[in-house]
This record gives sequence, C-alpha cells and structure tokens, in this order.
Amino acid sequence: MCPLLEPTCSVWVMLPLFLAGPLIVLKQQGVKQQLGMVRPGLGMMSVFICLQGTKEDLHLPSTNYYVYYDTDMDQAMERYVSMPREEAAEHIPLLFIAFPSAKDPTWEDRFPDRSSMIMLIPSAYEWFEEWQAEPKGKRGSDYETFKNSFVETSMSVVMKLFPQLEGKVESVTAGSPLTSQFYLAAPRGACYGADHDLGRLHPRVMASLRAQSPIPNLYLTGQDIFTCGLVGALQGALLCSSAILKRNLYSDLKDLGSRIQAQKKKN
Ligand SMILES: Cc1cc2nc3c(=O)[nH]c(=O)nc-3n(C[C@H](O)[C@H](O)[C@H](O)COP(=O)(O)OP(=O)(O)OC[C@H]3O[C@@H](n4cnc5c(N)ncnc54)[C@H](O)[C@@H]3O)c2cc1C
Repeated sequence: MCPLLEPTCSVWVMLPLFLAGPLIVLKQQGVKQQLGMVRPGLGMMSVFICLQGTKEDLHLPSTNYYVYYDTDMDQAMERYVSMPREEAAEHIPLLFIAFPSAKDPTWEDRFPDRSSMIMLIPSAYEWFEEWQAEPKGKRGSDYETFKNSFVETSMSVVMKLFPQLEGKVESVTAGSPLTSQFYLAAPRGACYGADHDLGRLHPRVMASLRAQSPIPNLYLTGQDIFTCGLVGALQGALLCSSAILKRNLYSDLKDLGSRIQAQKKKN
C-alpha cells in the first residue's frame, strides 16, 4: 500500500488541532512553538478580467508585470496596510498583472476570440473582516462598493499601461481576502501562506518549519515549508514526499535526469 495516506497540510491547519484539546495535549508545546514562528501573510484581492479578442488582436504579452509605486517597498507596504481602509485603494503600492491566456497554447481552441487577464492587489484582511460572517455573494452593497474601489483604481492603471484594451473589457470579477479564505481555505485570505517577513526567513525558523510536524503522522507541505508561490509549493511537496517516503527525492530526480540525458544521447 502507498504510505502517502498520512494527512499533509499547511502550517495553519495545525491551529485547530492545537486548540482541539486532549488528543494532542502532549504535543501542544511543539505545535505552539512552530505556530509562534510565523504569522499569516498579507491577503490579496484577485481580479479576473475577460477580454474580447485574441492575444494577437490585443497584443498581449506572456510576461508577468509587477507594478511598483515606490522604491522603499517595506515602508510603502507598512504605510498601506495601516492606513484607514477608505484611503487604501488610492495608495496601492504594488500590482501584479498577467495574461494567463497568452501563456496557454490550448486557449484559443477552447475560447476563441477571448482572452483573460488577472490582477493581484495586496489587501489587509482586517479591511474586510466586518463581512467575514456574511455568506459569500451576499455581503451587501457596502462590501461590493469597497471592493470595487480597488478594481477601479487598478483598472485605470491597466488602461494606461495597455491602452489597446480600452473598450475590450467584457467582464470583471473581483475577490477579496474573504473570497480566498472561502474558495482556497486560506486562513485570513493569505493565499501566499505564512508571511515572508525577516523572522520567517531566519535560518533557525526555516530549519524548524519542516515537513515533520510535532504530531506523529501529520506532515506539513507546500509553500509554508519552503517559500511562497507555485515553485515554493512544489519544493515543499518534494520535501514532504521525501520525509514520508524516507528517501531523498531530489537525488531520485537528479538520477532520473541523468538517465533521460543518457537515453537522449543514445537515440
Ligand atoms: C489568483 C491567484 C494567482 C496566483 N498566481 C501565482 C503566480 O502567477 N505564480 C506563483 O508562483 N504563485 C501564484 N499564486 C500563489 C500560489 O497559488 C500559491 O503560492 C500556491 O498555490 C501555494 O500552494 P500550496 O499547496 O502551499 O497551498 P494551496 O494551494 O493554498 O493549497 C492548500 C490546500 O489545503 C487545503 N486545506 C486548507 N485547510 C484545510 C483543512 N483544514 N483540511 C483539509 N484541507 C485544507 C486547501 O483547500 C488547499 O487545497 C497565485 C495565487 C492566487 C490566489
């Protein structure tokens, strides 16, 4: 039987376990120590945009764009997240913009004459907290208006950077950190996992946040045991699988790479 039946999870999944009581009471200290090393990262607003036209019509690049408004990003981000929420949309310090359809060779067969665009806007969970108990899709007009203030500001930036998109926007759908919490089960909408502050990147913390958790047979995986993003999550998966299988999968991959290269040379 495959031993991968052990539950694997992000570091925050241990929080309810920590609070759960008698079952793990003996291990609480270790869990508390691991949780104390990190805090949830910043939430994101995700904005999904449908465009009329193909990537050729709209001259859409496959590049990711990071739009910065400041040279001191630490200071800019701190100022941003601590300002009154009504002012925040006018002071977005960073925008991520990408055109996923332009990267996808199968897109045009599936969605002819359409393109997609995504924006990520850093957002504090606290700004949306008052609506956390409201059901998804029914959070009311104040919530929608607040969310849309970010969408409008960032769309005006998009139109400056990509003026060819003027009049080509078919639909815009935005999600707040509450949306990420609901759909991705990302606590406090932190879709990039534990915060990447200096504390979390300290060698002692990096070495302590391992796949092996203080609870037997509960393994941590994904971005929280490496670094954020898809590549970080992939590395986390390799580390976790290595821990469960008790073998170094990086060596296996290296050997596999060598074998494939040797095979290619033969052919
Ligand atoms: C809109 C958007 C765009 C992004 N674009 C990029 C990009 O271009 N490049 C990039 O590198 N990264 C991007 N990211 C970030 C990237 O998606 C994450 O860094 C990555 O998915 C993290 O992977 P993970 O496996 O660690 O965590 P997740 O993908 O969050 O997976 C965690 C899983 O655990 C499940 N889970 C949570 N709690 C429980 C529980 N109690 N019990 C059982 N299951 C649970 C969740 O449902 C989820 O399936 C983007 C994120 C978003 C939201």
